Amino acid sequence: MITSLTKAQLNTYLNGFLYTCIFLLGASVVFGWILNASVLVRIVPGLAPMQFNNAVCFMLIGASGFAHLYKHFKLQIAFASVGLLVSSLTLVQYIFSINLGIDLFLMNTQVVLPTAHPGRMAPNSALAHTMSFCALILLASRNNFHVRLSSWLGAAVASTGVVSLAGYLIDFDGGFNWGQYTQMALNTSVGFVLAGIAIGVTTIPYRMRNEGRKFRPWPYIIILLITVFLIDLQLPQGVAVGLLYVVPLLGSWYFRNRKHIITVAVLCNILIVLDILLATESLGSEAVLYNRVMSILAVWVSASIFYYLKRISEKQKEADLRFKLAVEGSAAGLWVWESIAEDIAWWSPKFYELMGYENNEIEASLSNFDNYLHPDDVELVHKLIGRHLTKKLPYNCEYRVLTKSGKYKWFLGSGQATWDEDGTPLRMVGTIIDINARKLAEVAEQERADELARKNKELEEFTYVASHDLQEPVRTISSFVSLFKQSYGHKLDEEAMQYLDFMDGASKRSQQLIVDLLDYSRIGKDRKTEEINLNQLLENVLTDLSVRLSETNAKVKVDPLPEIQGLKTELRLLFQNLISNGIKFSRKDTPPVVQISVTSDAEKHTFSVSDNGIGIDPKYIDKIFVIFKRLHGKSEFAGTGIGLAHCKKVVELHGGQIWVESIPNQGSTFKFTIPTTIEL
Ligand code: ADP
Repeated sequence: MITSLTKAQLNTYLNGFLYTCIFLLGASVVFGWILNASVLVRIVPGLAPMQFNNAVCFMLIGASGFAHLYKHFKLQIAFASVGLLVSSLTLVQYIFSINLGIDLFLMNTQVVLPTAHPGRMAPNSALAHTMSFCALILLASRNNFHVRLSSWLGAAVASTGVVSLAGYLIDFDGGFNWGQYTQMALNTSVGFVLAGIAIGVTTIPYRMRNEGRKFRPWPYIIILLITVFLIDLQLPQGVAVGLLYVVPLLGSWYFRNRKHIITVAVLCNILIVLDILLATESLGSEAVLYNRVMSILAVWVSASIFYYLKRISEKQKEADLRFKLAVEGSAAGLWVWESIAEDIAWWSPKFYELMGYENNEIEASLSNFDNYLHPDDVELVHKLIGRHLTKKLPYNCEYRVLTKSGKYKWFLGSGQATWDEDGTPLRMVGTIIDINARKLAEVAEQERADELARKNKELEEFTYVASHDLQEPVRTISSFVSLFKQSYGHKLDEEAMQYLDFMDGASKRSQQLIVDLLDYSRIGKDRKTEEINLNQLLENVLTDLSVRLSETNAKVKVDPLPEIQGLKTELRLLFQNLISNGIKFSRKDTPPVVQISVTSDAEKHTFSVSDNGIGIDPKYIDKIFVIFKRLHGKSEFAGTGIGLAHCKKVVELHGGQIWVESIPNQGSTFKFTIPTTIEL
C-alpha cells in the first residue's frame, strides 16, 4: 500500500514537472514574440523559430495537462479543444492550400519571418499538436479504450519530436522539415518529446489499473518502427543507423508471445530495404550495401538473443509462478534458510499466518525462531537439525511454537538441506504443518486410555476379590443343602426334595459361575509371553477333549499351524472354548465337524475355527462376546455364557481382534487375529 502510494505520488510529481516545462516553453516563446526576443523563439541563431500559434498550443497542452492532474476534466477538455481547433485548422490550411487567417492571429506582425506561410507552424508540428490535443480530450473520459488510444497518440507525438531532433543532430542548419514548408523548430521538437512523455506518464496509472496482462505492445512497436524508419530516411545511406532498429526489437520484449520478436525483426528488415528504395541518394557504393547488410545482421543477432533470453525468462517466470502457487496454495508454512552460515531465512506468508502473525511481522531466522519455540523443545529441534546437517539424517520434528495469541501450538517441522562438495551445509528448505488438533486429540486419547486402563484394573481386582469372597458362602450353602438332604431327606416329601434339588442345582451353578468369573479375571494376570508351537498346543487341547469328542462323534480337523509368540495358558483356553462351542452347538442329526485353519502375513496371523452347527442369527453376532450373554436356555445347551468373553479377552490381550461369520443352520466360523509381534 505504502509503495503504491509513493508510486502514484511520484507519477503526479513527474507529470506536474513535465506539464510545467511544456507550459513554460510555450510561454517563453510567446513572450519572445511579444518582446521581440529572438533567443526565446529560435534558441540558436539561424534556426527556424517556434511560431506564435505553436507556442500558444504548448501553453494549452501544459494547461490542459495540469487541469487533468487537478481533476478539472471540463477545463482540460476546454483547453485542449482550443488547441485542437488551432492545430487542426492549420492542417486544413496545408491540406487544402488555403489561408483561414489564423496564422498571424494575435501575432506581432512586425517580427514575422518571411517564410512560405508567414507565422504558420510547420505541418508536422500541426499534426503533432492535433494528436496531443486529441490525446488530452480522450484522457478526460478516463475510459479504458480512450486512455489506450491517448497513450498511443502520446507515443506518436514523442516520436515526431525525436525524428525532428534526429534531423537536427544530423544536419544542424537544415533541421527536419516536412515537405517544402516551414521546419519544425528545435525547441518545438523538444516540446513534443516532453508532451509525448507527459501524456504517456499520465496514462500509466490508468493502464496499469485497467489492463494488467492485457497490455498491447503492437501500437508502440509500430510507432517505434516508423520513428526509426523516418530517422533512417533522413540520414545519408552510409551511416549505420540501421542499428537503431534494435530499439523496437527491445520493445518487442513486452509481447507475451515471444514469436512476435521474430515478426518485429522481419518488419525491421522490410523497413531497412524500403529505406534503400525510398532514399533520395541512390544505392551504389559498396559501403552502403555493406552498411545495410550489417544492419540486417544486427537486427537478426539481436532478435535471436532477445528470443532466447525471453525463453529463459519465461521458463524462470513459469517456475516462479509454480513455486508461488505451491507456496500460496499449501496448508504448510514454508521456510527457506537461505544462508545457514549467516542465519538468513525467509518465511512464507502462510508460515507467519500459522504463527498468528502478519507477513514479515517478526524477523525470519532460526535464532529468532528459538525465541518462539517451547523451552522444552529447543534442544530437540537443534539436535535434529544438527543431525541432519552433519549426518544427513532426515529432519522431522514435532514441537510447540508460541503463537501471537500467547498460546503454544503443535507443529510438525521437516526440511532438507543442500551441501557443497566438502559437506558444508549451504541452505535448507522446509515446511511446518499445524498438527495441533491431532496432538491435542492424541493427548486426550492417551488420557482416556490411561483412565480406562485404571478403571479396568480396578474392575478386575473387584471381580477377583468379589468372586473369591463369594465362593465361600455359596460353597457353604451347597454343602449345607447336601447335609440337610442327608440328615432330613427321609422326613421330607417328594415336593420338598425337589425344592432342595433346585437349591442344590442353583448353588452349584452359582459356584460354577464364580469359578468362571475368577478364571476370567485371572486371564493375563501373569503376562509372560513365550514361543508357542500351536500344533503341539492343539494336540494337548484335543487330548483333553477326547472324551467329549468320542461321546459326540465329533471330528476336529487342524491345518498345520505356525509357531507364535503369546500367552500359553490363555491361548489354550481360547482354542478349547472355540472347539468345545463348535461341538456343543451342533445340529441334532449332524455329527459335529470343526475345522481349524490359518492365514499369515507380515503383520498378523488370522485363525479361523469353523463348525457345521446351528449357526448364529446375524443380529446376535456382536452380542455373543459379552460376558454371560447366552442365546439359549440351559436346558437346551449347558453353559454360563462366559466362554466367548474369555476368548475376546485373550485375543485383545494379544492385540488382536475376534469376530464371527455365520449362516444359521449351516454353521459358524469364528475368526481371530494374533499380531506377529506382541506388545503386552
Ligand atoms: P456358553 O457356551 O457358555 O453359552 P459362550 O460365551 O461360549 O457361552 O457363548 C455365548 C453364546 O454364543 C452361546 O450361548 C451360543 O448361543 C452362542 N454360540 C457360541 N458359539 C457358538 C457356535 N459355535 N455355534 C452357534 N452358537 C454359538
